[in-house]
Amino acid sequence: MRHVLAALSGAFILLSCATTTKEQGLVTRAADAMGGAQALSAIKTVASSGTTKWWEPEQSDMPGGEPRFAAEAKFETLADAASRASRVDYQKNFAYPAPRTFTFSEIVTPQAGYVIGVDSNGRNAESMKANPPAHSMSGYRLATTLRERMRGSVTGLVSAMLANPGAVQPAADIVVQGRSLPAVSYQGLIVAFDPQTGLPERVRSLDYDNIWGDVTFDYVYSQWQEVGGVKVPMSRKYELNGRMVQEIQLANVRFNQPVDQARLQIPAGVLANAAKPATGNVPYQWVIRRQYIGTYMDSDNVSYDTKGSPGLRLQELSPGTFHVTGGTHNSLLLEMSDHLVIVDAPVTDAQSAWVMKAAKDRFPGKPLRWVVLTHHHMDHAGGVRGLLTDGATLVVGQGAYDHFRRVLAAPITRNPDLKPYDFNRTPILEVPQSHVMADSRGRQVMVYLMDNPHAKGMLMAWVPDAKLGYVTDIWTPGPPLPAKPNPGLLSVVTTVKKIGIQPERFAGGHGSVAPYAQLAVMAGQ
Ligand SMILES: [Zn+2]
Repeated sequence: MRHVLAALSGAFILLSCATTTKEQGLVTRAADAMGGAQALSAIKTVASSGTTKWWEPEQSDMPGGEPRFAAEAKFETLADAASRASRVDYQKNFAYPAPRTFTFSEIVTPQAGYVIGVDSNGRNAESMKANPPAHSMSGYRLATTLRERMRGSVTGLVSAMLANPGAVQPAADIVVQGRSLPAVSYQGLIVAFDPQTGLPERVRSLDYDNIWGDVTFDYVYSQWQEVGGVKVPMSRKYELNGRMVQEIQLANVRFNQPVDQARLQIPAGVLANAAKPATGNVPYQWVIRRQYIGTYMDSDNVSYDTKGSPGLRLQELSPGTFHVTGGTHNSLLLEMSDHLVIVDAPVTDAQSAWVMKAAKDRFPGKPLRWVVLTHHHMDHAGGVRGLLTDGATLVVGQGAYDHFRRVLAAPITRNPDLKPYDFNRTPILEVPQSHVMADSRGRQVMVYLMDNPHAKGMLMAWVPDAKLGYVTDIWTPGPPLPAKPNPGLLSVVTTVKKIGIQPERFAGGHGSVAPYAQLAVMAGQ
């Protein structure tokens, strides 16, 4: 026994005398493969230019279908190691949800973020007030941007790991298509290395996605080229759960060019009121993916603009008919004799938690029995789980059953807004044409499948006693109608005619409420 102990303590001393851990060894090998620690530490500024493309899987035409091509951009970057400030100038051309171009710049430092120009259709109050348009980043966006810039600059990432060996921690290998990549954990990221070359290959974060639950989000380096004695990956891509969602091609990388510091400066007036990087449960995927399609509302509440809205509220449109408004995305809550019905589950389970609490406070003892989704897009379905915990039936359009069965089976251990719940038992009703939800007093809520240009399996809701229709993303009731009807608006009119209803008003998943007659007149009905 004494011999064994002596042998063990000998081994322990040997280990603790070793100058590097296995993890630090991986980092050192990567630095050597890239040109050596000295060459990396000599990098004071980085400038680059390139092109990028985005695809959004949860804005697909079909539920569970091919990712939607969202946008492409030309960009130029500038980063200064001393101040840790960086800037990206974008010219971003969107294909979805509508063709348009946004030309804007982002400056971030560890303390604040600043957006110059218009980068979204969902502009916040600060951006609308500024002339010319600009705004400080929310804490969520700043934390997200800082994280993505850390993996975007592989020379910076490896230098940082070299400089902070104590923060380089063990991580399980990442296995990709049968290849096992040794990995380390560093400040919330998992950095995996090519076992042959030793170069960094993939930087993973373990994110939460409002549709698919626990997901991997990987930044993958390839096409290494030598620039001034340092190897740099000229090609990069992002993979969400193994599926490519963004590709980036660098055309040009330059080290240690003189930098115009003014281009990295956030105005003092902005800096004074700017948010610090958020900590804790940052909704990374919401912040990143809403930017893919140019609809991100830059706010520290993902449901509404904290600088422009007092928050969510229940607005009674007629007895027992409530529009959940105040946010970027609405839903419709119906009070039945002994239960509740809701149409749409937007944004996150946090928004759904607000809706559930408001409903329970107002209608004590009435369970939410039917949860209708107009369509499967992530921004109108991302709070679906949070509405199903009363044991409700999920009502979706034709062709969406399999998709939502898979969604509800996905692991959600990283969901910040929901306690564990087995959604595999949730009944799902797929509506081939129409479905009626009625109570014992004869109140009815109907849903109808729509032919429409926005998404397959789209449902329109109809509340006969309120003479109220409800649609999402094909008509935004409230803002002035366009001069000419578009295919989305026409699909509303066609469906109303086909099912033979006489609506007085429509409420929307966006916007507010508007008379139906306006639309009918415009469509020549
Ligand atoms: Zn949509």
